[in-house]
Amino acid sequence: MSRTRSISQEILVHFASKIPEKLSSKWTRFVCVSDTHNKIDRDKYQVPNGDVFLHAGDMTGLGKVEQVRDTVNWIKNLPHKYKVIIAGNHDLTLDETFYEKNWNRFHYNKEDPKEAINIIKNAGNGVVYLNEESFTIPDNGIQIWGSPWTPEFYEWAFNGQRGQFLKEKWGQIPQTTHILMTHGPPYNILDKTHHSGENVGCEDLLERIKVIKPYVHIFGHIHEAYGVLEKTWESTDQDRKKTIFINASTTTIEYEPENAAVVFDYPPTHPL
Ligand code: 5GP
Ligand code: MN
Ligand code: MN
Ligand code: MN
Repeated sequence: MSRTRSISQEILVHFASKIPEKLSSKWTRFVCVSDTHNKIDRDKYQVPNGDVFLHAGDMTGLGKVEQVRDTVNWIKNLPHKYKVIIAGNHDLTLDETFYEKNWNRFHYNKEDPKEAINIIKNAGNGVVYLNEESFTIPDNGIQIWGSPWTPEFYEWAFNGQRGQFLKEKWGQIPQTTHILMTHGPPYNILDKTHHSGENVGCEDLLERIKVIKPYVHIFGHIHEAYGVLEKTWESTDQDRKKTIFINASTTTIEYEPENAAVVFDYPPTHPL
């Protein structure tokens, strides 16, 4: 008997304006946002309910301790059982080594990066902060791996050189990852910037994704490339036939929180 079986039911993607009920309580509903940049008005911006909330980085404007505290207070009070979050290049204090060297390029007074990191790591209430690490959802075994790193662009936090440096970063992504979270897109996938019309995603990340073939990859960073794209892999691999890419950027290129959260329902039976 074959040890592999194909996904028996498809992952279903919805946008916040029209979200049906889950097919059954056995499905896991994920709600994705990114790049909220302290721009969320809790009374106005509606986060759909679900089982797991995912935030793909740029949680703050400039990573000030107060901004980290505000974002964490918003996230920890959401109704989702788990809130899995990563940092982005704007979350300056969360990259402590970077911040120690570069704080005066961004802040008039130095913030305490240890305090910011402490707030985010000890938020409680189901908040899980991933910095190049995995989280396995206890209820269903779904494995999530998250990383804040993006290719160098004006020397912000968690920026790394394209090539060997980032290749090594992505080499850490476990083969078993079901849902991948990175702050930035892979090359040529929801990564086109309006400024120059260029595709600015990471080539090395794309190469690693071709090996892992996660069921879902969620990211943000290129705000204007918000959307969903599904890619079917040409391969003989039994389990992993396609990846759903979600650029969940909540704010626009003008940093206005206008884009709906993207919701996907993960089926109860699939190869783990
Ligand atoms: P953020 O500053 O929030 O990380 O990114 C905001 C915007 O900066 C993006 O929506 C995109 O227009 C631009 N941007 C970010 N990273 C890059 C990059 O690597 N290359 C280019 N050309 N633009 C970028
Ligand atoms: Mn951003
Ligand atoms: Mn910026
Ligand atoms: Mn960014």
